[in-house]
Amino acid sequence: MDKEKNTFIVRCGEVALKGMNKPYFERVLLERIRKNLKKYEGIEAQRREGLIFVKAPAAYGKETVARDISRVFGVASVSHAVETESDLDAIYSTAAEYMNELIRERQIRTFKVEAKRADKTFPVESPDIARRVGGEVLKRCGVLQVDVHHPDCILYVNVRHGQTYIYADKMKGFGGLPLGTNGKGMILLSGGIDSPVAAWMMAKRGMLIEAVHFHSYPYTSERAREKVYDLVRILASYCGRIRVHSVNLLDIQQAIGENCPEDEMTILSRRFMMMIAERIAEANRCDMLITGENIGQVASQTAQGLVVTDNAVSMPVMRPLIALDKVDIMDIARDIGTYETSIRPFEDCCTVFLPKHPVTKPKLSRILESESALDKEALIEKALKTQETVTISPE
Ligand code: ATP
Ligand code: MG
Repeated sequence: MDKEKNTFIVRCGEVALKGMNKPYFERVLLERIRKNLKKYEGIEAQRREGLIFVKAPAAYGKETVARDISRVFGVASVSHAVETESDLDAIYSTAAEYMNELIRERQIRTFKVEAKRADKTFPVESPDIARRVGGEVLKRCGVLQVDVHHPDCILYVNVRHGQTYIYADKMKGFGGLPLGTNGKGMILLSGGIDSPVAAWMMAKRGMLIEAVHFHSYPYTSERAREKVYDLVRILASYCGRIRVHSVNLLDIQQAIGENCPEDEMTILSRRFMMMIAERIAEANRCDMLITGENIGQVASQTAQGLVVTDNAVSMPVMRPLIALDKVDIMDIARDIGTYETSIRPFEDCCTVFLPKHPVTKPKLSRILESESALDKEALIEKALKTQETVTISPE
């Protein structure tokens, strides 16, 4: 057993179903694991027989490394494993040593063994390996009993060519597809609960993410923008570095306020956000826009509201949250770690100019007419000049 390094077995999720393209997806996944875990010096990742093996210096806690591996999109599950040669005596003593460690760490009292013989030249068949290892562990770890129905712990023995891996836990990953296998999307990122979840969901399907945020400085504070950057930092722990563009929307909001009906403020500014985001997306070679919109949630997200917003751009707009319930979105936000930051109370540019009674069933023709009172192109150009871009790395 290599005491200097911890070994992790990584199982691929959907990547494994990719048929002819499987080697490509596996290669990208391997690269992603290496990239996302770069902060662990001396880490190695390799692909062998449909699994990915990661080795990290033991100085880094195994829980922390396993958690970071589980966050890489495309990973179905990960286990910390101990490794020995594929020889029965070596397997017995490694299994017993590993089990003794678990007994010390977690007061395990009952167990069962599941064995798998990937190396068909190994002289003992799987059920027999399980029986023999179970017997030896019982003999060598005094306090244990076998319980095949509800064991405290399942000891997995995976016999491969030359090497055998022994492990007890599978930490579930998020699944999905490796980042970079599905183009690039520009998320319209507010400081709210929904848009970070929307970005995360698209990234989970392999899409690289870039973000645009609109503010109304000085009506919105610098701290409101910091909150958005904090959200991006959390997203970056899944996606790697993310570029964020901030744009000041204040002149546009004031122009709408002066020239258009008050109840159309939200829907009109939403159209401008889409148009500006589309320009920035094109300039940065993004394939589509992403929003956290969700049908029926607020006045501007009724069916009619969405039709009017959608009409502002020709680039496809992904709305991964469209049919989810708010409670389910909140659950995902908690799971991925953005919730606590999203609920920090800072003003958003939309709330600064919130009309008293926003239109809930806007008619496209009327909205277009209101919009024609504005010099759209000049306003967009001017807003684009306020653009500031930063690159945010994971912590
Ligand atoms: P969120 O929780 O994402 O803020 P929301 O439920 O508050 O969403 P709205 O405020 O109506 O909904 O915004 C709908 C979508 O428009 C957001 O999910 C986001 O994609 C985009 N959006 C809203 N405000 C901004 C902003 N200030 N900057 C960038 N995008 C925004
Ligand atoms: Mg919002």
